[in-house]
Amino acid sequence: MPAHLLASSLMSTHALTLTNVRIWDGISDDYLEADAISIADGRIKAVGEVSKPGRYTRDMSGLTLLPGLIDAHVHMCLDPDILSAEGQSKGAHKDTTTAIAERAAAMVRAGITTARDLGGGEWLELALRDRIRSGELPGPRLLCSGQPVTSPRGHCHFWGGEASSLDEAIAVIARQIDHDVDLIKVMATGGNLTVGSDPVLAQFDLETLTAIVEEAKRHGRPIAAHCHGTAGITNASRAGVDTIEHCSWRGPDGTGTDFDPDTAARIAERGLWVSPTINSGWKRLMGREDFEPKVRDNYRRMREAGVRLIASTDAGIPNVYHDQLAAALPIFAHYADLSPVETLRAATSDCALALGLQDTTGAVKPGLEADLLVVEGDPLTDLDVLTRPVAVFARGTAVC
Ligand SMILES: [Zn+2]
Repeated sequence: MPAHLLASSLMSTHALTLTNVRIWDGISDDYLEADAISIADGRIKAVGEVSKPGRYTRDMSGLTLLPGLIDAHVHMCLDPDILSAEGQSKGAHKDTTTAIAERAAAMVRAGITTARDLGGGEWLELALRDRIRSGELPGPRLLCSGQPVTSPRGHCHFWGGEASSLDEAIAVIARQIDHDVDLIKVMATGGNLTVGSDPVLAQFDLETLTAIVEEAKRHGRPIAAHCHGTAGITNASRAGVDTIEHCSWRGPDGTGTDFDPDTAARIAERGLWVSPTINSGWKRLMGREDFEPKVRDNYRRMREAGVRLIASTDAGIPNVYHDQLAAALPIFAHYADLSPVETLRAATSDCALALGLQDTTGAVKPGLEADLLVVEGDPLTDLDVLTRPVAVFARGTAVC
């Protein structure tokens, strides 16, 4: 084992106490009264009730601690420097196993302690997940879907999950289960990346999509649905997927002009989560008259309907880098009109809840795994401070 990994894994085996630190727990409106936290065996042991400082105590005066960040939508195996789907599918990049390990290390150093991978073709991200889990490699806790279920030549068909019938969709799901995926991903509409697929159109009818959701549930797996067009969003809300990715309300003209209040009400009522994949690339769209007003209006109307949002970036698509969640959060806040604390919940406790990880991570609470981010400054008023982590702990191990 390399020396730096050995050193950090040794640290995780000892009880560690952090003192004189300002704490946001991932849930509350404001900072806690407590100013100390102790970690043992990878978990948060106590918050505030820390007895006398021991050998493994770090004074964190002037610093602020919060839960590690969660990105609900990434693709470990996509290379953001490759601009076409064709280039990706040809594998015109360096050795993928090496590249994804480097991406994972960069992510966790940037404070991302959990990420959900929503699609790849060869299950390499699952092998990475297991190597991170065992402590062999640094990286975020990963939840992985493997190959998404898609229609023939449909969105991301090059990953191998094409299904022209329900039976074929069931076979695609079975193949993912055999590879021990954490969840199932379905492409409910076409997408931008795939030439020949139409983001506006539904790829499966309601009956088929409902049966796909039931099949995922039968295997005890949650299901995420990629949806741009309103027809696909409506199908996904009726079929009862767990998370709706993108949720762009695209109408016949291809833009987000087709918000449907009944569907938004159904999403809220059924407790489904929307993962809007607003990344730092959206910064350049700010102020564009043909984009920003309608997009912001869609988020306002979703939130008024009671729809809950989680932070996600779609990292891996062109020019969206895997370690850039923190940079995306102020932009997400802008478009969705969220306060810093609402944005932070969407990237910590709410995201953990949406991913079924609320008993594992997403908050600074005794018993949870010690996924912690330490920054200078005041993240509850200034999200930009998250881009400069001073320390990160992943499952109790100091990674930087
Ligand atoms: Zn994606």
